[in-house]
Amino acid sequence: MPKSETDLIIIGAGPAGLTAAQYGARANLKTLVIEQFAPGGQALLIDVLENYPGNVDQRDFEGRVIAGPKTGFEFSQDLHRQAQAFGASFVSGSVTSLQKAGNEFTVTLASGETLSAPAVIIATGAAHRCLNVPGEKEFAGKGVSYCATCDGPFFRNKKIWVIGGGDAACDEAQYLSRLTSKVILVHRRDRFRAQKALAERVMRNQNIEVRFNTTIREIRGGQKVTSLVLERTGNDGRGNGEVYEEAADVVFIFAGTVPQSALVAGNGGDGGLSAGLDENAYIITGQNMASSVPGLFAAGDVRAGSFRQVVVAAAEGAVAAHSAAAYIDEINS
Ligand code: NAP
Repeated sequence: MPKSETDLIIIGAGPAGLTAAQYGARANLKTLVIEQFAPGGQALLIDVLENYPGNVDQRDFEGRVIAGPKTGFEFSQDLHRQAQAFGASFVSGSVTSLQKAGNEFTVTLASGETLSAPAVIIATGAAHRCLNVPGEKEFAGKGVSYCATCDGPFFRNKKIWVIGGGDAACDEAQYLSRLTSKVILVHRRDRFRAQKALAERVMRNQNIEVRFNTTIREIRGGQKVTSLVLERTGNDGRGNGEVYEEAADVVFIFAGTVPQSALVAGNGGDGGLSAGLDENAYIITGQNMASSVPGLFAAGDVRAGSFRQVVVAAAEGAVAAHSAAAYIDEINS
């Protein structure tokens, strides 16, 4: 079989993929990144990346603040430029299948183009999870949103609902509370899953009303969302099991994520790869990010056990590229 022109293909250009690209290129591997949309992945949606080490405000020599910490968008652009500067190449496209024959992987794009390399890093991340309540699909883009920084500015001074109790819900509720004084954060349990610091900030925020023990049953409206049907599920002093309807201009849903691992789930019926997945379909790897398929690595939110933070995704991308370089050396020796 002829040797491919590319050493390392990285699928996905979030923080994991972009960092892997940088490390792959720096290790002298001919590195190609395939990205479906814009480089940055979910990090693009982050308002201020306040918990990335070193990403603090910029000060002049007299200590005056001259610029704030980078946004997710700025950070992603920097990662992209950095990977390119080290020699990584980028192609835009949607990967439809990933196969392996001998020591060579073949990646097929929706355009029909095929690319091959001896090592592949899956850094496809995770997508938002839907609630699957009536009205969610129907009103998507008409008052149902999964991205506060994208859609929040359209709802200044409106009644904004946020669903979820994790870091994303708390972070985004904080962001939205700068646009309106009427943010209502609904969580199904009696405490947040979010990091303590974030959760406490939300509880102190005068513009956010928190409703614990509450679930959303339905999203209603006409041309756009006008109300939500909610249920008080717990004994939080408001009563039990009461169902009520309340006006809404928009609802932002942050109910967690699902891994984008279908490419290696082996269920495409096209002889696609089957890597070991955990019960929630995250890719299982060792500490070196190697999956059960030799030459196939995973990094970031798609990987089982990953602590889903930008800093962790970046670190895993670096480890995956380092391991891929070692693997390529081994098969070539
Ligand atoms: P998450 O931590 O999985 O939280 C999802 C939230 O949605 C949970 O509170 C969950 O409730 C709730 N939920 C799930 N299904 C639901 C349903 N059907 N109905 C109602 N509520 C439902 O997800 P995330 O907040 O999107 O965060 C994903 C990952 O990214 C996490 O690892 C997080 O740490 C990371 N992240 C970090 C930051 C940051 O560091 N600033 C920001 C955003 C995200 P239960 O609590 O009852 O399960």
